[in-house]
Amino acid sequence: MSEPSIQVTFPDGSTRSFPEGVRGFDIAHAISPRLAREALAIEVDGQVRDLSRSISSDATVRILTWDDKDGKSVFWHSSAHLMAEALESIYPGVKFGIGPPIENGFYYDVDLGDRQLSAQELDDISARMQELAGRDVPYERSEVGKSVATDYFRDKGDEYKLELIDELEDGSITFYRQGDFTDLCRGPHVPSTGYIKYPKVLSLAGAYWRGDEKRKQLTRLYGISFPKKSQLDEYLERLEMAKERDHRKLGRELKLFAISSRVGAGLPLWLPKGAVLRENLTNFLKREQVLRGYQPVITPHIGRLDLYRTSGHYPYYESSNFPPMLDENGDGFMLKPMNCPHHIEIYKNDAHSYRDLPIRLAEFGTVYRNEQSGEVSGLTRVRGFTQDDAHIFCTEEQVKDEFKDVIDLTLHVLQALDFTNFRVQLSLRDPEDAAKYAGEAEQWDRAEQAIREAVAEMGLAAEEVRGEAAFYGPKLDFMVKDALGREWQLGTVQLDYNLPQRFDLSYVGEDNEKHVPVMIHRAPFGSLERFVGVLIEHCGGNFPVWLAPVQAVVLPISDDYIPYARDVAKQLISKQLRVEVDDRSETIGYKIRSAEKDKVPYMLIVGQKEREAGSVSVRRHGAGEQGVLSVDAFAEQIRVEVVQVIGN
Ligand SMILES: [Zn+2]
Ligand SMILES: [Zn+2]
Repeated sequence: MSEPSIQVTFPDGSTRSFPEGVRGFDIAHAISPRLAREALAIEVDGQVRDLSRSISSDATVRILTWDDKDGKSVFWHSSAHLMAEALESIYPGVKFGIGPPIENGFYYDVDLGDRQLSAQELDDISARMQELAGRDVPYERSEVGKSVATDYFRDKGDEYKLELIDELEDGSITFYRQGDFTDLCRGPHVPSTGYIKYPKVLSLAGAYWRGDEKRKQLTRLYGISFPKKSQLDEYLERLEMAKERDHRKLGRELKLFAISSRVGAGLPLWLPKGAVLRENLTNFLKREQVLRGYQPVITPHIGRLDLYRTSGHYPYYESSNFPPMLDENGDGFMLKPMNCPHHIEIYKNDAHSYRDLPIRLAEFGTVYRNEQSGEVSGLTRVRGFTQDDAHIFCTEEQVKDEFKDVIDLTLHVLQALDFTNFRVQLSLRDPEDAAKYAGEAEQWDRAEQAIREAVAEMGLAAEEVRGEAAFYGPKLDFMVKDALGREWQLGTVQLDYNLPQRFDLSYVGEDNEKHVPVMIHRAPFGSLERFVGVLIEHCGGNFPVWLAPVQAVVLPISDDYIPYARDVAKQLISKQLRVEVDDRSETIGYKIRSAEKDKVPYMLIVGQKEREAGSVSVRRHGAGEQGVLSVDAFAEQIRVEVVQVIGN
């Protein structure tokens, strides 16, 4: 008598039959012993499960390893249980909130009473985790009734878990146990604790239970874990580097920006050096935009509520906007959350024919969002920020060429700033949910195809994500990896079928009929604040010469040469270089160290010989001496270096 069998389909489409009740682990083993060793969990018909669970009907499966995002999540989630077990063994009576995996690692929110953990204690917890992992006990799943689950945590005195159980439906509750530790959890987990070879508790933070500031503040312990020691070491090294490069720290040290509690959190003040950096960025983009047929516009920081009622920004997005400034009639103004409505009114200022299109209106426009003060940080989460915004009004036929040009511009920007590692994501509509979207289905099809072609013709490959488009149009995002391997969403290009309709925009076509133009929002930097924050961390404050707030500092070897140093600076400044003189009465060694610390690209040392020859002794930041050059030759060298990157 043969056993009943099931058909299992693999990601490559191949199928294989297994006895009914086969476990994920057996399937991995049947494929290869190596995969069996590396397997962490299994995806069955889109659902991630423990390898030890049996499969009772035909299914599509994928074995998850460390190389899969979901595999890492399972690994890290299991590590959170291990950390909880370690905590309970060191601090009996500790209570547990939730312990999910995150993008890098995991956390657990715990109630330790009044105890404050020291750095030494975090290391002790890490050591205990490693010890417990060494016992290599399985994570065992069990389905429990609601009353059993409630009794368990009532006996334990954990009111947080009781609250969670209270919200669950009877029959859907599972426990996972490893060794002496039991947790309420849906799973899944890695097969046993031995998989978690290298765990490390990283840091602490306060976190309100259920994110509610009226409830108790718990201690959030962040941790990370890896299957290999080299991976942990590399991660910790990158973390150290990230701390060194933190833009808030470098922003302070390099005197780029400041936060004043009187002005307000999330409202950065650009210091002179930061302002020069920012102006260099804007000038670079402005010049590119002129070459590409953009027209500059300038619009006010506020607008009438009526404008935002028409655009749909008011009252719907109220919570993220600052409250409006109401007048006695209940009408009033609002700080602008977006530049688009103002630009639309500029488009509407004239009647347009197809011959005028495309019209590209560009503005470095500052917008305001009322972020919670707990959420603002440095330059990357702010309440007022300046977008390198532009709106392109064009015909449907022009969409492809406009996208190509915006892609070309974005690539130019990324290249000039040495962001070489990026991917492109195309967000498309979900055709199943047609009613949700503004614009006709055929319009969407044509636009999506046009963008797809634009991407391909620019030599890029976009990752397409269905259902990720906004209701008003498909969009293209540039996701950029920085020098530390972190991914940021920077440039964005977004089609819009909604606002042209809401504002009743039109142009007269070749057929003499009125048509609705397509609108494209685009911002290669995104916002200047966020972009500069990311850039500082990407280059560690070592800005390329074309961008550096100070390109060269002249260092006289003694006070006798200060007049010559000033003369050199004057000559270079007259050639549009950004140059300072260090005229402090310090040793030359001290001045060099100081300039290196300030990350100035070039140091120009001057003494007797240089003064006689009208030259400078050139030193490059981080690279040492570069030889002696005449002042003119040095100026020319910088000019060439700049032109190579950003053009004439
Ligand atoms: Zn769990
Ligand atoms: Zn816009």
